[in-house]
Amino acid sequence: MRCYCVLHHGKPLELVEKSMPAPQGTEILLKVKAAGVCHTDLHLWEGHYDLGGGKKLTLAERGITPPLTLSHEIVGEVVSAGAAAEGEGQAGRVALIHPWIGCGECTACQRGEENICIKPQALGVARPGGFSDYILVPHPRYLVDIDDLDPTHAAPLACAGVTTYSALKKMGDRIQTDPVVVIGAGGLGLMAIQVLKALGGVGAIVVDIDPGKREAALSAGALQAIDARASDAAQQIQQATNGGARSVLDLVGATATVSLAMASAARGGHIVICGLMGGDLHLALPVIPMRPLTIQGSYVGTLKELRELVSLVKSANMPLIPVRTRPLSEVNLAMQDLSEGRVHGRTVCIP
Ligand SMILES: [Zn+2]
Ligand SMILES: [Zn+2]
Repeated sequence: MRCYCVLHHGKPLELVEKSMPAPQGTEILLKVKAAGVCHTDLHLWEGHYDLGGGKKLTLAERGITPPLTLSHEIVGEVVSAGAAAEGEGQAGRVALIHPWIGCGECTACQRGEENICIKPQALGVARPGGFSDYILVPHPRYLVDIDDLDPTHAAPLACAGVTTYSALKKMGDRIQTDPVVVIGAGGLGLMAIQVLKALGGVGAIVVDIDPGKREAALSAGALQAIDARASDAAQQIQQATNGGARSVLDLVGATATVSLAMASAARGGHIVICGLMGGDLHLALPVIPMRPLTIQGSYVGTLKELRELVSLVKSANMPLIPVRTRPLSEVNLAMQDLSEGRVHGRTVCIP
């Protein structure tokens, strides 16, 4: 089978021929039908995260070393199953794969929060992902049936979808009474607009530096779109939110965007950061109790949340984000376009 792999960080992905894996025990082998390209793939390809101040967190420090088969937004068709998974892995079943798999033993995994496991085994990160003809999934419980959903549109639900769903759920009831300020109108931003609508939210005020992405956000139903680079961006957000944002979802996670979130939040505001662009933040501590702000991180989502999201998409008939499909052989071009900000919505590769 073909895989496109990171053999050296920062170098183009290379075509590697591997032998087909045979599923053992509870494992399921699927033929990849769609594999999304996410910003996290860029970090994994580059090999590090920016911690600010010239400091970097390398993947090697997280125990992740090449060769890597990227892509964690995968829809596949079951081909075969190990002896212990027979019956659950019927050949021909088409499913979205929950990639945020943990060790199954730590306290986080036992609470069902495999996404924050101390020894993560995520597909497309620690284990081979979807830029490949076939993929091995350790257990059928990670398969989420998509029924009539189109595989290419359903694939981004496994990361862009569950990340925004989990982050918006953390904001609680306030999404039903106040708009959410969404920073970043890439694939996750467009997804956040739709998930917010499906959850019965008031709506999203989107902030982005790119006029084309702001336009796409308005077409997707954003209440308003604000230029993040405007000198009065914080004042514009405060005006749009009637005195300050009660909820800010930062899908970029850079020094500039978190600073903007802090500057535009209302007293009692809740800032949830999902983006991993990087940098650091110098924070005057009295601000936290006196304003009083909540700054929370959110990392992808749980299997339960992915199942809830897929049911929500089906029951609310939620429109899925624009997708451009490309053959898997163009994966390097797709990664380059994403890294240079040329992707509106999501790119999904088809092996
Ligand atoms: Zn992702
Ligand atoms: Zn664990």
